[in-house]
Amino acid sequence: MTTTADIAIIGGGIAGLSLAAAVGSRARVVVLEAEPRLYHHTSSRSAEQMQPTYGPAPVRRLTSASIPRVQAIAERLGRPIFTPRPLLWVSTTGDRSHLDELLATVAGLEELDAAEAVRLLPALRPDAVHAAGIDRSAVEVDVPALLEAYRSTAVDAGAVVLPSARVDGAVRTGDAWRLTAGAAAVEAPVVVNAAGAWVERVAALFGARSRRLQPLRRTVAVGVPAGRPVDPAWPMVADALDTFYFRPRGTGILASALEDEPSEPEDARPRAEVVATVLERVNAVTDLDLREAATTWTGLRTLAPDAVPVVGRDGAVPGFYWLAGQGGYGIQTSAALGAVVADDLLGTPSAIPGLEGVLADLSPARPAVQG
Ligand SMILES: Cc1cc2nc3c(=O)[nH]c(=O)nc-3n(C[C@H](O)[C@H](O)[C@H](O)COP(=O)(O)OP(=O)(O)OC[C@H]3O[C@@H](n4cnc5c(N)ncnc54)[C@H](O)[C@@H]3O)c2cc1C
Repeated sequence: MTTTADIAIIGGGIAGLSLAAAVGSRARVVVLEAEPRLYHHTSSRSAEQMQPTYGPAPVRRLTSASIPRVQAIAERLGRPIFTPRPLLWVSTTGDRSHLDELLATVAGLEELDAAEAVRLLPALRPDAVHAAGIDRSAVEVDVPALLEAYRSTAVDAGAVVLPSARVDGAVRTGDAWRLTAGAAAVEAPVVVNAAGAWVERVAALFGARSRRLQPLRRTVAVGVPAGRPVDPAWPMVADALDTFYFRPRGTGILASALEDEPSEPEDARPRAEVVATVLERVNAVTDLDLREAATTWTGLRTLAPDAVPVVGRDGAVPGFYWLAGQGGYGIQTSAALGAVVADDLLGTPSAIPGLEGVLADLSPARPAVQG
């Protein structure tokens, strides 16, 4: 049986579902997800942060615009979705040039005395912190609740969500694409490529040119501290040189050593040596004494060469729209990006404060993503 729609979205992660939630009441929408269950890949493997001072400038604008939208979702759900989690940047060597660059270029970051940083997070070794800065507006977000809110909003508005539907064929007939996904067939004039690590493969199915999007592995370990109990109010700590971050998670410490290893699109699994590095790096700057990881996971962050998402019409392939390259920012940008893309697809002027002209910065036609 063929399902017809105005917009077919390929990918049931946070990108596809936030868009389906934003556009579902204004168009006939079908979401096709390859896996038997939604959010199986990167969207359920994040560090669950929304940090308005993190990422390149367009990402920071999208994040600031997303926070009130996610707060509105929490109000609809009738329960909190955020936990305050300030982001504490630290320089752990005498070289504070990276921190100084952040402080000089990122609005909302405030310089902090090193002793004050240790007072906020007493597990930090005083001799490991040379300089610090803080973003007090950063929050931890309940990602499963957010994903479920996007899904149910989309479905309540009439969107059809098809699991176990890996799109493996696309033919343009007249003004519509005919997609095949196993036994399912979908016809729609517009197709959105929100396939996460698979976006380049999906683009190839449509004959679209590469936008140089590369999946990169990143592993998280939740370690159990033997050194001292965890205070749930501690901030998230990030090294200005990008060698680690960590934060409380229940009675444990969620941490990463921020590896950026290129990968094929796949169901990524943690490697023991990377997990060991994560624990070592946290132990080197704290007295937490993490000895083993209770839980680990690895996800694929898919990035363009300039780390800015790739969003917009393809230009050369009719009815083909990119919603890709969210990298390490796909959770924190999802609410605003979904709303802006919904307006763009429908040809409605977008009036989200702070996002005027943002799509120009994300364009698939920009030089940085040309082959
Ligand atoms: C360790 C780690 C920590 C992170 N921390 C944060 C954070 O704190 N804050 C933040 O904002 N971001 C964070 N991120 C990034 C964030 O998780 C991603 O940007 C986001 O999840 C990407 O969402 P997505 O929907 O594009 O991809 P995915 O969630 O991977 O969804 C894409 C979907 O497309 C499906 N698909 C692929 N091919 C096809 C096909 N042919 N047909 C149908 N379906 C297909 C896949 O099965 C998949 O479900 C983190 C990422 C990692 C790995």
